[in-house]
Order: sequence, then structure tokens, then C-alpha cells
Amino acid sequence: MIDLKNLTIEKAHKSLLKEEFSCRELVEEYLKVIKEKNSELNAYLEIYDDVLSQADEVQKKFSDGTATMLTGIPFAIKDNILIEGHICSAGSKILENYTAVYDATVIKELKKAGAIFMGRTNMDEFAMGSSTQTSAYGVTRNPIDPSRVPGGSSGGSAASVASNMSLVALGTETCGSVREPSAFCGLVGLKPTYGAVSRNGVIAMGNSLDQVSPFGKTVRDTEIIFNVLSKYDKNDSTSVPDNLRIKKTTSNNSKKIGVPWHLFKEGVDPVIMENFKQSMEKFKNAGYEIVDIKLPYSKYSLAVYYIIMPAEVSTNLSRFDGIRYGFSSEGENLLEVYKKSRGKGFGREARRRILLGTYVLSHGYYDAYYNKAIKVREKIKKEILQAFENVDLIVTPTVPILPFKLGEKLDDPVAMYLCDIFSAPANLAGVPSIALPSGFTQNGLPMSIQFMASHFKEDSLFDIGKKFEEIK
Ligand code: GLN
Repeated sequence: MIDLKNLTIEKAHKSLLKEEFSCRELVEEYLKVIKEKNSELNAYLEIYDDVLSQADEVQKKFSDGTATMLTGIPFAIKDNILIEGHICSAGSKILENYTAVYDATVIKELKKAGAIFMGRTNMDEFAMGSSTQTSAYGVTRNPIDPSRVPGGSSGGSAASVASNMSLVALGTETCGSVREPSAFCGLVGLKPTYGAVSRNGVIAMGNSLDQVSPFGKTVRDTEIIFNVLSKYDKNDSTSVPDNLRIKKTTSNNSKKIGVPWHLFKEGVDPVIMENFKQSMEKFKNAGYEIVDIKLPYSKYSLAVYYIIMPAEVSTNLSRFDGIRYGFSSEGENLLEVYKKSRGKGFGREARRRILLGTYVLSHGYYDAYYNKAIKVREKIKKEILQAFENVDLIVTPTVPILPFKLGEKLDDPVAMYLCDIFSAPANLAGVPSIALPSGFTQNGLPMSIQFMASHFKEDSLFDIGKKFEEIK
């Protein structure tokens, strides 16, 4: 029996090197848990039928000396990241039969490193949602309390790691879709700097916001994955070239933490607020300086996000017309084919956002909404970068509320959107952010705090995250 609960990438790597178990034996352990738990949790939409042969194949790397830290490590992959030869549906009916014809760059990198792909995980349709309830393939349940949501949109990936159905996972972030499920499932989730990790081969939601983002049980696990995936990719026009990336410093020594207290006025669950204050006390006792900062424009982050994102969504989803990809409905003429295919192929939330996006981009409203949102986004970015001239890190709770019950908030989109209130600034400004487990409520529900750092300062996030693992 392998102790999957306490297994980390480094521990697995050492055991594989020492031949305490083989890649196949490790994968078999995860398959056992999958068999036991996936039908209830619905974390995976599909388990790949070649996982054991993948394991045998990468095992060879240990004999020929080419094994890396990720060789033999079982990954769960969100259903919007292309893996050649496998279905990739983005949680949508419109792509139910779409088989990827190439590997996303991140998959290529993981393949090179010898990672194992266990399967594809459930998600809110086209990554729109904060609870993994808008998937066309049913809801995913939270492993900590199956009557509750796992967070979203990468809820399947989070649930798979939290229930030991994979060691680590990839999700994607447009606005909190890895940090929020990390918070709800008691995990670490890292949203990298925009442009650090390639988006090539990832089904786009909001191109100016999206980043592939890792989940792990520890900060170190997310760091290892980030270090493998963070590199320039010529196939992604927004990938940042090497010479513009900040090089690692040996010691980050980030000691000054900014807290935008004025942003927490309403809507934060008192239990979460209390936990946040206690976490700040711990940092203070550990020698950190905690200062109050003001981010006056950031209070508009959510409003700005919910204009820019649907604008990009409506553009991105226009390619799903029933002719070029996936689900297609018959019709009398071309327009009817479009209407029927899109009307039946997209779920409610996707259709809502297409309408919103089309509206804010339409003639007569473009200046009032989209153009204004773009301007405020610049202000938000500027004020966050200015704040980093004075502090090393900015901290907030990750989500203002605790994991909620399945079915809740589904009829109230605005209440669902409010979950993203602390996530939006990092995606709008393109800065990295990490969600860290910060304890449990009396009822055993997980809570989380998140740090933001300046562009390409992921190292500071890993440092503070490891410190928090020690002192919390
Ligand atoms: N909750 C966000 C939304 O619904 C999640 C977006 C994301 O990060 N994929 O837009």
C-alpha cells in the first residue's frame, strides 16, 4: 500500500528511484481509488485506457537514466487542454465528440518529462462558473463533503487531487478557476504570470486572461510543475520571451505584506475573516511586516472582468457553429443550422455570456462598456504594480465564502459571480497568485488565503507559501 494521502512529487520520485514501487504500481493504486470514488464524485469524465502502458513506457526512463522529477507522476488534466487522440470537450455538449488532433504545448512538455495522464476532468462549460455545476456532463462533488460543490471551474481536477485519484493536476484560470477550487478542496493552486505558461492547445475562454495553472497538495508540488511549464513558446503569440522574464534570485526575502483591508467590507463570511486575521497574526509573529494598502480601482475588478471576459467569450465561441467542430443540428438553411446547433449545443451559462459579450461589443454600446472596462483594467493593473513598489506581496482571502451546497446559486448568476471578487485583480493585472490552505472551520470545511506578487515573481509566492506551511 502506498500512502497516497501524504504523497508528494518529491516523495514519489525518491521511491521510484529507489524502486520501492514502479510507475505501474503507483498508477494501479490511483486506479483503485478512482474505481472506488469517481462514480460518486464525477471528477473524471474519462479515464484513459492506456494509463498502464504509459506507466510501462515511462518506467524505461528510470533504467536509461533520463528520468526527471515528473517521470511517472500521475496527472489529471482539465477537459479543455488538448491531448492528441483524446476527446476534449471543455465540459460542453457542443464538443462532445471532438478529438484533439495535436498536443497542447503544456502536454508536450509533460510528455517529455515522462508524466502520466490519468484522464480528463470535469469542468464548468467552457470554464464559465465557480462551482463545476454548469458542465454538460453532470456536477462534480467536493471530496471533503460530497453534498457541497468543489469550486470551479476546474472542480474536477481539484476533486481528483483532493480525493487521491491523481497526485497532481492541471486546470486553467481566467478568473480564479484554480485558486477557488483549491480553496474549496483544501489544496494549493498557482495562477502563473500571464504569458509565463503557453496557452497553445488550450481551448480559449478569455484570451487576455487565461493561464494554465497547477494544483498540488503542497506548495513545492505546484513549484515543480510551474518550473517545467514556464517557458517561451513560439506557438503562443502572448508567450513572454526569455529575455523579458525575471531571472530567479537566490533569496527573495519578501518580508513586507500589503493587506487591502478596505476591499473586505461586505460579503466576506465572518468565519473566513477571522481565519484571515489569525493567518496575518501568524505572519506578524514570524517577523513579517503587515501594512495596510489602498487599491481604490480594484473594487471595480469584478465589474470590469464581467465585461471583458464575456466580450472575449462571445468572440471565441463564435467558431462553434455546428459546421467546423463537434455537435451539429440539421436545419433548412445555414442560419437555422447555426441557430439550432448553438442553441442546443451550448448550455445556459454559455448562452448567457455570449449574449452579454455580444451586447457589450455591439455598435452603440462598445464605448460605454467594453472601452471603458479596458481603461479601468489599465488603472487596476497600474495601481497593483505601484503597490508592489512598496510591498513585496499582497494578501486577501481566496474566496469570500465557504464551499456551498450543490444546487445553490445556480439560479442567481450574480451571487455566483461574487465568488470571484478576490480572484479578478490578479487575472486582470496579469500578475501571479497562489492560494494556500489556511485551516478548517469547526465543521471541517477548508479555508484559504491567497498571495499576489509582481510579474514573474512566482518565487516569492513559493517562499511565502512554504513559510505558511511551517507556521500555520
Ligand atoms: N468564476 C469565473 C467565471 O465564471 C471562472 C473563470 C475561470 O477562471 N475559468 O468566469
